Amino acid sequence: MKDSFGREINYLRISLTDRCNLRCRYCMPERGISKFSHEEMLTLEEIYEITKAFVDLGINKIRFTGGEPLTRKGIVDLISKVSKLEGVKDLAMTTNGILLKEYAKELKKAGLNRVNISLDTLDEDKYNLITRGGKLKCVLEGIEEAKSVGLTPIKINTVLIGGFNDDEIESLVKLTEKDEIDLRFIELMPIGEAANWAKEKFISNDIILEKVRELTPTPREDISSPAVYYRLPNGKGKVGIINPISCKFCANCNRVRLTSRGQLKLCLHSNNEIDIKEALRSGQDIKKLILNSIYKKEESHHLEDGEYIKRNMNQIGG
Ligand code: SAM
Ligand code: SF4
Repeated sequence: MKDSFGREINYLRISLTDRCNLRCRYCMPERGISKFSHEEMLTLEEIYEITKAFVDLGINKIRFTGGEPLTRKGIVDLISKVSKLEGVKDLAMTTNGILLKEYAKELKKAGLNRVNISLDTLDEDKYNLITRGGKLKCVLEGIEEAKSVGLTPIKINTVLIGGFNDDEIESLVKLTEKDEIDLRFIELMPIGEAANWAKEKFISNDIILEKVRELTPTPREDISSPAVYYRLPNGKGKVGIINPISCKFCANCNRVRLTSRGQLKLCLHSNNEIDIKEALRSGQDIKKLILNSIYKKEESHHLEDGEYIKRNMNQIGG
């Protein structure tokens, strides 16, 4: 499936829920999200049906995200069904890892290939502060369990926040030394909850290479990946740097997103959405709608111009 700029679109990120068992300060409002009816959410059957349509059209890489995907009831069965779709080559999940210890084995058995786990600090108190109540121990145990059942390669996503975790860059990078774990630093984005304060706390990822001089570039394995990778001397894992703000990777973009309310987002940083849920419920040909929509995918984003993004990340899935 190609867009109008000739980019091959083969990657779908599916948000399974807006809800979350944490309240990260840059992502979710403190009181959580306002209640909405079940009618507004895609059912698991609808998610499967839409996913199948995408896979028929050439999507071969799927990631479940959220909110927290592991809080959605029935997720293991959904993964089991999606993993059996012919054409799916890579099935992954982005999770905060809190429930991973409990679910890792079942997820692996259901056909999930790997997980990305979000972790911004290795300090218990700071973790509790940034997530408004999360327990670091649960995530660390989740990472161990994911490793032991083979949900690998494990990637850890760290949002870099000025004055919060820039003093931990060296210790976070060290996680990649002895284990085959990739750690990816992501710049704080001025989206939703962080729209008003992200600029103050923003620090460019360049600081990582300044602080850890031993990092050397590794060859790029996947040009559509937004991460540029480095390695410590003899490091088993890699250190990825993702600069959505200070550096654009739009030219190689291969992805689209489906929100838990059934909206197709062609670009993370755009407010344009296409209502796939309504189309499905009213019996329209969703494959035709998807193909037409993909053709309208924007060439690039304009975050650096201060464009305001309405939705919080828990609604889009990152
Ligand atoms: N709950 C799961 C998790 O935390 O991994 C999946 C959803 S979460 C919205 C996906 C990713 O978005 C996380 O890695 C999170 O750190 C990131 N994220 C949320 N808000 C962000 C922001 N304002 N800037 C940069 N990354 C953000
Ligand atoms: Fe929840 Fe993930 Fe957002 Fe944190 S980043 S509040 S874990 S959805």
